[in-house]
Amino acid sequence: MNNKPAEWAMKAALVAGLLLPAPALADDKATLERALAAAIATFEAALPHLDTSEFGVDVAAYRDALTLGRFSSGHWGGTVSVATVIRDGATGSCGRFAAFVRIPPENGSVSLVLCPQFFADGADALRELTVLHEMVHVVAGGDECRAMAFAARVQQAADGRFTPVGAYWSANGCEESAFRLPG
Ligand SMILES: [Zn+2]
Repeated sequence: MNNKPAEWAMKAALVAGLLLPAPALADDKATLERALAAAIATFEAALPHLDTSEFGVDVAAYRDALTLGRFSSGHWGGTVSVATVIRDGATGSCGRFAAFVRIPPENGSVSLVLCPQFFADGADALRELTVLHEMVHVVAGGDECRAMAFAARVQQAADGRFTPVGAYWSANGCEESAFRLPG
């Protein structure tokens, strides 16, 4: 009988530990779904204005990766699936990035890892841009200038404007690259 309070304390801790993260994860999933839907809407609006390849990105493969989570890859070879992973700790690469991808594919799968900063920081528009950007890495590899140029091209083609990325563009030395921002 004497251990009843301890038992209840333990149950409360279990409930706190097991049940509280679930709504937070559900929120993150909803946020990610919203960002994906926004990125898809922007891409689909841009699609009629895009060539079959833009900055070396296979546009059909990009579309499949974004909308289906699976694409036939001339870049990596074979069929590649995209696995989205929500991380709840800002450790490792999540200490530096809002999102990152694990490339090249392993066993036919590329992980798109979404970090706490992706969910905590900034507006939906920034999350949408992050998805558009990371999906370039998924399809076409790690070149930062290509990813920025392609994402800006998609935004520009969709509604005539793109998110200013000048500081990041310069920081990555993209003025010297083969890629260009719109305008
Ligand atoms: Zn990048």
